Amino acid sequence: MTATIIPAVPDPTTLDWNNLGFQYLKTPLRYRAHWRNGAWQAGELTPDAQVHISESSTALHYGQQCFEGLKAYRCADGSINLFRPDQNAQRMARSAARLLMPAVPAEMFIDACQQVVRANQAYLPPYGTGGSLYLRPFLIGVGDTIAVTSAPEFIFGVFALPVGAYFKGGLTPSHFVVSDYDRAAPNGTGAAKTGGNYAASLLPHQQAAERHFADCIYLDPATHTKIEEVGAANFFAITQDGKKFVTPKSSSILASITKYSLLTLARERLGLDTEEGDVYIDRLSDYSEAGACGTAAVIAPIGSILYGDTLHTFGTGTEAGPITGQLYNELVGIQYGEKPAPADWIVKVQ
Ligand SMILES: *Cc1c(COP(=O)(O)O)cnc(C)c1O
Repeated sequence: MTATIIPAVPDPTTLDWNNLGFQYLKTPLRYRAHWRNGAWQAGELTPDAQVHISESSTALHYGQQCFEGLKAYRCADGSINLFRPDQNAQRMARSAARLLMPAVPAEMFIDACQQVVRANQAYLPPYGTGGSLYLRPFLIGVGDTIAVTSAPEFIFGVFALPVGAYFKGGLTPSHFVVSDYDRAAPNGTGAAKTGGNYAASLLPHQQAAERHFADCIYLDPATHTKIEEVGAANFFAITQDGKKFVTPKSSSILASITKYSLLTLARERLGLDTEEGDVYIDRLSDYSEAGACGTAAVIAPIGSILYGDTLHTFGTGTEAGPITGQLYNELVGIQYGEKPAPADWIVKVQ
């Protein structure tokens, strides 16, 4: 018998809230539910952070799995906000449909998130640290089968870990390089939040990182002329006249909830025009600002993009543009309960 090394749960009073990064940290309880005989069984919280599954599980061999990422935020009054968990539930249902998995009902998804946050409240970074409790829901095909078919059983889990502020002391632009690889095929699984897309992105990311870029930018897989995604984040840009928020439209992009939230705020709070359309890689001079957006960073301003031998720099390349800054402040203010939220964007943890 070999012993499995199981990480201990750290004492929350020993955590340095201001210097948390984005790394796995075991918290006391996580949610698990099983789908068997055609139905979801009642889920429960468990201290067991290991997943015990058949060696033949489709999640291990055929990539039948998908996941989500969202955060819980501690507000000034001590209450806890979840940001648009219904959107994550809907997106996971779309990913599941594409991968022939049973959807987790939205009520069950949101209830699981609520339970996990409540059970691990001591690990929620205090208000003012810029940290949050990151939730990772996942859905995997499991059970005894070796045929290339959908799994006989599924597990839905949600675990939580405290994460730090992505930017400490102001938004700092990052530098990106256009990849020769594709992240997803035109009619493939790009719109599903599934591990296979991430497996395909590990090598391009490493090659970009070796060249000291933050990540790579993927072009549309059919023509390689338009920006699709920035690593595992969506792309947006602001036109030179400062009047329009533009973001790529494509069936192989993962629909970022942050991106659609920014799009709404750009229109309703900043009074900008918005467009989901084509962002040609050889027309970057049409834009004064650009950014990558997703739950992890909210916005990572883009300082420059290297495309072949051509380096395009946005502004000075060393500071975030004014509209990027306004969008960031507006969205983060809503998440921490400092600014009024559009209807249904905030769900309080009860
Ligand atoms: C999760 C993800 C994003 C960001 O989505 P958010 O809902 O904003 O966190 C963007 N691109 C890819 C490929 C993703 O997996």
